[in-house]
Amino acid sequence: MVFAADYKATCYWQDDVSALPEASHTLPQHVDVLIVGSGYTGLSAARETALAGRSTLVIDSGTLAGGCSSRNGGQVAFSFKPDHPSLSAQYGRAVADGIYREGLAANAALAALATKEGLQFDWRPVGGFLGAHTPRHFKQLVAAFARQVPEFAEPHEVITRDRLAEAVDSPLYHGGVIVTSDASVHPARLAAALYERAVSVGATVVGHCRALSLNRIAGGFEVLTSRGVIRAAKVLLATNGYTDGLSRWHQRRVMPVGSYIVATELLDPALVQRLIPSGRNVCDTRRVVVYVRPSPDGRRILFGGRASAGETEVTRCVPVMHAMMCEMFPALANVGISRAWMGFVGFTFDQMAHLGEQDGLYHCLGYCGQGVPLATFYGRHIGRRIVDARVPPSALEELPFSTRPYYHGRPWFLPLAVQAYRTLDRLGI
Ligand SMILES: Cc1cc2nc3c(=O)[nH]c(=O)nc-3n(C[C@H](O)[C@H](O)[C@H](O)COP(=O)(O)OP(=O)(O)OC[C@H]3O[C@@H](n4cnc5c(N)ncnc54)[C@H](O)[C@@H]3O)c2cc1C
Repeated sequence: MVFAADYKATCYWQDDVSALPEASHTLPQHVDVLIVGSGYTGLSAARETALAGRSTLVIDSGTLAGGCSSRNGGQVAFSFKPDHPSLSAQYGRAVADGIYREGLAANAALAALATKEGLQFDWRPVGGFLGAHTPRHFKQLVAAFARQVPEFAEPHEVITRDRLAEAVDSPLYHGGVIVTSDASVHPARLAAALYERAVSVGATVVGHCRALSLNRIAGGFEVLTSRGVIRAAKVLLATNGYTDGLSRWHQRRVMPVGSYIVATELLDPALVQRLIPSGRNVCDTRRVVVYVRPSPDGRRILFGGRASAGETEVTRCVPVMHAMMCEMFPALANVGISRAWMGFVGFTFDQMAHLGEQDGLYHCLGYCGQGVPLATFYGRHIGRRIVDARVPPSALEELPFSTRPYYHGRPWFLPLAVQAYRTLDRLGI
């Protein structure tokens, strides 16, 4: 059985109808700060600019946080893909240290929103399991964790194959590592909480309003939107994997890559607990990434990944995702899929997030699939920079934000790359 009787091609998080409020409909014509994009980045930045007394408007072409921020996997892990030695070799030790410190601070800041400020978004410090897909990957994984720079080392426990059932009940892995500092959230509730925080200090958030063009005028920008013209002294692009031709320069630097998630039908909580003890997040060492977790109520498995080489319609990807899920958990062979959805992750060519400014036009994007902590953290940071030039720049601002020849916003090379990665994964390389 692949499809459950109640199957819908909608996002599971949106079943929680209280999770996302309606954005406002009244559009101001002049503001100090216009933020394009109402995800974690835009909402976090908006709170800072509004707190500093700047009139702040956030617009989104769709519903509130309708991009990645209401539809992701809700997994929180340490957030930079390049390891510390690679960053050190490329940009110097001080920059690498600065970036890694910010990565740790991002996760701590997200935890603090839940634990110190009491925001309700199902924050759970459950830890994460990184499964080794081959015996060779297991050795490499353990060696990589052993080599971590002590100041930035992630607290972890090595799980050998004979102990695998403690971490995940799957025949797929040859052991792995539990990272105890990882956590999970309810992504749409996080977006709703950030929205409340932004509007509570005076920011206005307007949905269904697409920015169509951006022109520099004396003292700022004139932005033509689908609902009229707005003048703003400063503009922030918080558009991540949905970055469009509004700014061609930015569009050439962010690659939208579809990521797909399915949610099972309701399961016996004891089965979910046996498959993924402690409700941890699960990822593995394959190049074509999968990310898996229980739903916050412990009644479903949420299985995310990439179903096909090119982008596809969500219902078409369900049989493949179901087969991938059953390969990981054969016990789910007779369990149907109840929800399926997708979104566009914003990747960059150096696999690093980027933020910066060019004469009043700010950007903060490209989290490469790690935006739950990073977008929340860097959104706040860029908001502070917008209102106060004395705020020290992020270490990420040291990195050049580059594009590649022949790339104009459509990653035509992606199907080839995914096919090649899949072949390497199959060969266990
Ligand atoms: C399926 C999926 C699973 C993921 N899982 C995880 C995970 O487990 N952990 C993790 O850390 N990260 C995950 N991510 C990534 C994470 O969700 C993002 O990095 C993060 O939400 C980015 O937030 P953002 O505010 O920068 O962008 P978004 O939330 O994508 O918001 C950008 C917004 O800009 C708007 N926009 C774009 N152009 C315009 C325009 N011209 N005018 C008006 N509005 C515009 C869009 O409508 C969109 O709402 C996942 C992403 C996806 C898609």
